[in-house]
Amino acid sequence: MIRIHILGSAAGGGLPQWNCACANCVAARSGKIAPQTQSSIAISSETSREWLLINASPDLPRQIDSTPQLQPRPDSPRNTPIAGVLLTNADIDHALGLLLLRQQEAPLVVYAAGETRTGLAWIDNLLTRFCGIVWRKISADFQSLRGGLAFRAIELPKSVAFQFRDDSSGATALFSPSVGELTEELRNAVHASDVVLFDGTFWSDGELHAVRSGARTAREMNHLPISDGSLDLLRQSPARRKIYTHLNNTNPIQMQGTRERAQVEQAGIEIARDGLEIVL
Ligand SMILES: [Zn+2]
Ligand SMILES: [Zn+2]
Repeated sequence: MIRIHILGSAAGGGLPQWNCACANCVAARSGKIAPQTQSSIAISSETSREWLLINASPDLPRQIDSTPQLQPRPDSPRNTPIAGVLLTNADIDHALGLLLLRQQEAPLVVYAAGETRTGLAWIDNLLTRFCGIVWRKISADFQSLRGGLAFRAIELPKSVAFQFRDDSSGATALFSPSVGELTEELRNAVHASDVVLFDGTFWSDGELHAVRSGARTAREMNHLPISDGSLDLLRQSPARRKIYTHLNNTNPIQMQGTRERAQVEQAGIEIARDGLEIVL
């Protein structure tokens, strides 16, 4: 059995974003839609008390505060059930949380591609004065973790996706929050996973133009838009649960009752929210 907690479901900046007055951010400030923290998940197997984080967002301390399973046991003064962090890339919203774990006594265990490790040399340097980081390699083949969970990395442009497998039940879960391109390997994983958590950052390619002229397009930011990018693929996937996550605050699917949200729901796809628990 695989257990997943969605700690945060928003893209970089969160919902609301501190300097944004788009319709969604205004609605989140006034309580019309639920605020969402920046994207991260925690994953574990049924038999393990240890959890892995996939990406460590700047909201991590708050996310731990609202997730009892990630909090220290009362039987010793300093401890954590967080056994390590897997990084999909070196984006600030995926990695800044590492710095916020600096009070840890043993070095942080971080699984990442070589490119991500290079991009995070500055965090690595800062943490040497505190707990330090032990870097672990990732591979395209499944590697086993404690507790009967295995994972592999699926290489994408400027990012990786992770697929997890529970060794006893065979259940599989895919986490892919930064998808610049639908590679053959990723398509196959979307069709062969029981749960798919997928890049839902932007609805359309030019979405950011509405809030900032001269903004880059979704594709330029390495996020395939939902409308003409991933919607058909996810609709066709036989996965038991398909969930858009890593949603930008400008994305119209954040708001109840929009035409765009209806299209996603009609395709049998869920929209992530903070605190959602998935067991498979
Ligand atoms: Zn991100
Ligand atoms: Zn906004």
